[in-house]
Amino acid sequence: MKPASPVPLARPPVATVMTRLARAIEQHRPPAVEKIAQARRDKAFQVLIGTLLSARTQDATTDAASARLFAAAPTPERVASLGVEQIERLIYPVSFYRNKARYVKAAALAILDRFGGRVPGTMEELLTLPGVGRKTANLVLILAFGSHENICVDTHVHRIANRLGWVRTKTPEETEQALYRVAARRWWPHINLYLVVWGQNVCRPIRPRCEACVVSRLCPRVGVSEPASGAGPSVRRRGAPGTSRPVPPGTPPRSARRASASARSR
Ligand code: SF4
Repeated sequence: MKPASPVPLARPPVATVMTRLARAIEQHRPPAVEKIAQARRDKAFQVLIGTLLSARTQDATTDAASARLFAAAPTPERVASLGVEQIERLIYPVSFYRNKARYVKAAALAILDRFGGRVPGTMEELLTLPGVGRKTANLVLILAFGSHENICVDTHVHRIANRLGWVRTKTPEETEQALYRVAARRWWPHINLYLVVWGQNVCRPIRPRCEACVVSRLCPRVGVSEPASGAGPSVRRRGAPGTSRPVPPGTPPRSARRASASARSR
């Protein structure tokens, strides 16, 4: 007789999960951009720039880089007056710091030229700024403008919403649209904070700590094949996002470094 196939758990209610996470995240540090939003005076601009810097970068690195940049240049005017190389030096070692330095300067110039020095407060306008996609625009609208109409979906939200079975999606953009349908409006502005903190500390990309998870009895763990067996440090796959070490400012491109190394070994 064929063994009975396991019955998949039903998708846990969003309200139940969010209520449990609201309590559980209190013991963890808030994400870097959340701290910027709590601490800075010119919230919108610094939240925008902090979010640009945070892509594929560890929180502690984003935190330190944002603090250096805003100490030197806290406003769009001051950032626009810096050279790209100065910005590179201030934000290093965030990932892709060369591209990000160009975007930071271009965004500051665009805010001055087209929006009178103030960060615009609509999705349509935010998306016209260099380097700004839906993730950044949604976070700025939530954290700086107090919007309750947006959900910010980054890699953590996308992954955990799928593991919980709330959505079955392939991209963060699809997840954002699906979450508007499955989550009650009251949770929209909180989804990013709760799931990012949970994703950084418990529902990690590799070997999630399901044994330490406050929703483990409810979660269908869609796509999770190897939960962590203990509470040890997370194991990152070689080459996983955020693990490559950036090259310091002034270092020649990789191809030139390889050529020079091979010339030295000849
Ligand atoms: S850690 Fe495990 S149980 Fe918790 S949400 Fe992630 S996959 Fe589900």
